[in-house]
Amino acid sequence: MPSHKQDPPQIIDIKESLLNREAEIELLQQTFTEIGGELDLNRVFKIAAERARALVSAETLLIPVIDPEGDTYSYRAGAGDNVDEVIGETLSLDYGLCGWVFRHNRPWWRGILDDLSDAERTQWEKEAGTVILVPLRGKKGLLGGISCINKIGADEFSRRDFNLLKMFASIVSVAIENAMAVQKMEESHYLQENYRHQLSMLNKQLIESNKELERLALYDPLTLLPNRSLFRDRLTRAIAQACDDNTSVALLLLDLDKFKNVNDVLGHEKGDRLLKAISKRLLEYVSAEETLGRLGGDEFVLVLQQSEADVILRAHELLSSLEVPFLIDGAKMIVSGSIGVAIYPQHGRDVSELLRHADSAMYLAKDSKKGVQLYSLEDDKSSLGHLTMIADLHKALEQKEFQLHYQPQIQCSTGRVLSVEALGRWSRPALGEISPDVFIHELEQSGLIDRYTFWLIETALAQAIAWHEKGCDVTISVNISPQDLINPEFCLLLDRVVSHNGKHLIFEITESMFLSEHEGITKVLDYIRDLGIGLSIDDFGTGYSSLSRLKKMPVSELKIDKSFICDMEKNKDDELIVKSIIDLAHNLSLVVVAEGVENEAVSRYLTELGCDILQGYYISKPLPADMCEQFLLAR
Ligand code: C2E
Ligand code: MG
Ligand code: MG
Repeated sequence: MPSHKQDPPQIIDIKESLLNREAEIELLQQTFTEIGGELDLNRVFKIAAERARALVSAETLLIPVIDPEGDTYSYRAGAGDNVDEVIGETLSLDYGLCGWVFRHNRPWWRGILDDLSDAERTQWEKEAGTVILVPLRGKKGLLGGISCINKIGADEFSRRDFNLLKMFASIVSVAIENAMAVQKMEESHYLQENYRHQLSMLNKQLIESNKELERLALYDPLTLLPNRSLFRDRLTRAIAQACDDNTSVALLLLDLDKFKNVNDVLGHEKGDRLLKAISKRLLEYVSAEETLGRLGGDEFVLVLQQSEADVILRAHELLSSLEVPFLIDGAKMIVSGSIGVAIYPQHGRDVSELLRHADSAMYLAKDSKKGVQLYSLEDDKSSLGHLTMIADLHKALEQKEFQLHYQPQIQCSTGRVLSVEALGRWSRPALGEISPDVFIHELEQSGLIDRYTFWLIETALAQAIAWHEKGCDVTISVNISPQDLINPEFCLLLDRVVSHNGKHLIFEITESMFLSEHEGITKVLDYIRDLGIGLSIDDFGTGYSSLSRLKKMPVSELKIDKSFICDMEKNKDDELIVKSIIDLAHNLSLVVVAEGVENEAVSRYLTELGCDILQGYYISKPLPADMCEQFLLAR
């Protein structure tokens, strides 16, 4: 009931305090309804800070929260003056009033001063009254606190403010703890998702690197063809299948001729590009079900499931495919090869046996210059395998088993023999004559060629001097392997062997050597010329160079390859090529030699075209030294 009279001051105080009480209770109720349903931790903090500030009329309200490690606390939320400067700041538990409250797990207010030691009291006395700070206690321990700084409109916070705040904190802390738990759950869910994502990324990477490893383990990185392992595996399966079906499997082993020289002379980079181009070319002749692999170096293998006759046809087809020149950096490259064929089951019952026999057939193909050779037991007398050949070559060098045959070359205009070409001969114990194409290739492959070449130069020079002393003045042409020229000791050794007798010798060097970008080649060629040795370009027309390029080289002679000469009677193109080579060579003041002259008609025709020197079976086959001497004396 409203009073008519003015209430006395005490009553007014009581009335005011009851009204305040009502407002406070309403504020608390509002806070709890709002916070109770809130699971977003940031929102919970925000509401708590604003309501607590209103509840005790603080200028500034801050909520410090103890960090998970437990030795620091951070200001998570706040309301009122200057809070933005403080929120987010992290402090040590040793520091400030908050630290004191957390360490002692006791609220701070003015009334506590009496409990403090003298030192502490001096330290904190200033703050008493202007700050109240109550802990937020969760079920599992201390969470943080609520700190009120400076009472609006009064000097100090009252005991009532303090009690209200304690009550507020005890209820709010439950909401904070719940929201923290929810956030933790969300975080761990997020982490889980994140882990799952990372795991799937890792898995993907693992699959990729597994694929890469598989590629490295099974495919040749240069040509991307199956390597030796994958090829062995495929052949093993094909053999098993053929065994079940009672059919056959053929293994073709293709070896490129003189490929090592391409690498040595033109450099590995060009060699690699040529190999890539070759594998691409070969793939055009191989179906997707068939396996074309690279065993390494210049050796390719092909597994076929066809009849013997078809397999031989396919082998010839592969060789013909290589006849079209390859273009590397604008330079034409001519490639040839030899193929050995071995067939399961008749030529071998497992991969190793088939490979061995295809290898020996391949050497026969090279030796006979047939291109393709099917394995046969009779031909294989004691396996022409190249490992046994290397052992035999070592022995042959030590025991001087090599011989030289000499093929006379005649001057067209006079019919006189001015020179002879020294050609290596090797009769392999138990196997008979091995073609120089084969053993020179093996000497080059096994790094023995320099020893052989110095034997060759010494022997040829001694022969030339001996003939000179008998009145036969002929120079002797010797074939020098490209690898000799890149041997750093070549010049030094040459000087020792030849000294001042260079005029008796001509070095035949294949055309490709003159294209070499190998450092120092020109120096070596100059050195050879300075020793008085003539330089001749052998097998001209099959290589990659042009006449204009040769202009800069210290050469004196050019030998047109026999492949053009042999056929020039029948083949108009060859005839035209020979004619223009002769003209151009003369323009460059080079002596022109035609090799492979097999009959009188060709001999006559070449003379008419102005060729300077002829060499070939028509004049004489290569002869042992004594027979060649008779030939020379008779002339
Ligand atoms: P090349 O230097 O072009 O030698 C010419 C080849 O043609 C010789 O084969 C010779 O016998 C052959 N030939 C000569 N006249 C005729 C003919 O009228 N018709 C036919 N169809 N062929 C004829 P050979 O002796 O089998 O030598 C083959 C190749 O082996 C040589 O080709 C040469 O590149 C290499 N070579 C031979 N001896 C040596 C050597 O001591 N050192 C090196 N590095 N290579 C050698
Ligand atoms: Mg030659
Ligand atoms: Mg030649």
